[in-house]
Amino acid sequence: MSEPVTEPVTGGCLCGACTYSTEAQPLNIRACHCRMCRKVTGGAVYARVSVPLDKTDWKGPVGWYQSSPELRRGFCKQCGASLFSERAKDNAIGLTFGTLDHPERFRPEAQIWRSSGLSWIELSEDITCHDQGYV
Ligand SMILES: [Zn+2]
Ligand SMILES: [Zn+2]
Repeated sequence: MSEPVTEPVTGGCLCGACTYSTEAQPLNIRACHCRMCRKVTGGAVYARVSVPLDKTDWKGPVGWYQSSPELRRGFCKQCGASLFSERAKDNAIGLTFGTLDHPERFRPEAQIWRSSGLSWIELSEDITCHDQGYV
C-alpha cells in the first residue's frame, strides 16, 4: 500500500463538471485486466483506488451503469469520463486513476484478472499478479 493519506483524495472528470473527494484511507489499490473494465473505461487496463463509499462525496452530473449485479460504474454525463466503480454491498467505491488530481500519490499493490489481460501490458514486477480476482 502507498503511504498513509494525510490529505483528502480528490479528483474529477475531463470537463470539470464532476468532482469527488474523500478523507478516508484507501481500502486497496489495484489494477484490473478484465475485459469488462477495459470496455467501460476505454483503457487497456483499469487501475483504481478503492475507498469507503460512505465517506466519499461527489457532485456533478454523474450517470450510472449497472455492469454486473453487485457493481455499477459511474461516469460524467457531460464529457463521458469514467469515474467510479461502486460496490455498495462492500461499502466501496473505486476511483479511476486517470481522474485523480494527484495519481502519483498512489501505486497499485496488486493486479487482477491477468489471465484476461493484453499480452503487451506489463506492470512493474513488484505489483503482485493474480490470474483472477480475489477478495
Ligand atoms: Zn465531465
Ligand atoms: Zn475488471
